[in-house]
Amino acid sequence: ATPTAVMVATGVGANNGVLIKGGDALERAQKIEYVIFDKTGTLTQGKATVTTARVFVGMDLGEFLRLVASAEASSEHPLAKAIVEYARHFHFFDEPSAIKDAENNSKESISGWLFDVSEFYALPGRGVHCFINGKRIVVGNRKLITESGMAITTDVENFVVELEESARTGILVAYDNSLIGVIGVADPLKREAAVVVEGLGKMGVRTVMVTGDNWRTARAVAKEVGIQDVRAEVMPAGKADVVRSFQKDGSIVAMVGDGINDSPALAAADVGMAIGAGTDIAIEAADYVLMRNNLEDVITAIDISRKTFARIR
Ligand code: ADP
Ligand code: MG
Repeated sequence: ATPTAVMVATGVGANNGVLIKGGDALERAQKIEYVIFDKTGTLTQGKATVTTARVFVGMDLGEFLRLVASAEASSEHPLAKAIVEYARHFHFFDEPSAIKDAENNSKESISGWLFDVSEFYALPGRGVHCFINGKRIVVGNRKLITESGMAITTDVENFVVELEESARTGILVAYDNSLIGVIGVADPLKREAAVVVEGLGKMGVRTVMVTGDNWRTARAVAKEVGIQDVRAEVMPAGKADVVRSFQKDGSIVAMVGDGINDSPALAAADVGMAIGAGTDIAIEAADYVLMRNNLEDVITAIDISRKTFARIR
């Protein structure tokens, strides 16, 4: 394409909220054979909602939520935000004593209710851990609990499986070296997700879902969205390996993601597409930024490239 055609295409993209970082990226997009989607925050709304919280020990629900929200308050993860929001709601609306606080504080901030935490660590693809009142709290998936040296009891495991089979994620909570409860989170698909997957299929593009989430939840979500090829329980570095495995036979691969954990994969892909509402690190690593946070723009991006280069053939 001529420099003018590239400029025009870039302008058309910009008008549609599709930022194209350069002519090479624009040219590669027409050849995309695979689109690999991250799950959380990309195919799903990333606005997760807590649907269940169950305490497995003699601790009341309010105190349990206070502990978990304190640990998650420093995390940027959509799951963490969902938990903090749920705890906030519980604190202000379900605990009679807190209603007075709510009246005194129009923003209904829970920061004063939360515990002080120390040694906070976010472990990408796994969860968070920190110390509260001198005791370690671990919030995350099975892998994180096991790695932290704790066993998962049968009743907890059964409850988590039940959540996962209904497309929810079970977040396990351990405090002072024992499991104390589980939080169930639902993260609905973006409204357009299934239509986009179908549309890509019609364009001859294959779709794949990759996620750090567990296999059961991943399969349930993939089924809903119409993706057959799923890779689950993938660590952040592993997402880039998944991209490379599809490139092995010379295929042109696009990766669509929103999180810090997606940036190695976005960089490894022939065409990295970051969701504009995602993290800065993902946006930096990508060739395309989808500003409208709408997956239809994956199709728009491929269309623009195909049209630009079809003209000069
Ligand atoms: P995805 O690849 O779908 O975007 P992530 O790699 O971000 O998912 O996370 C994978 C899994 O790690 C989550 O499904 C969750 O079980 C766990 N996890 C990650 N961050 C957190 C957090 N802040 N709190 C609880 N669990 C978390
Ligand atoms: Mg994500």
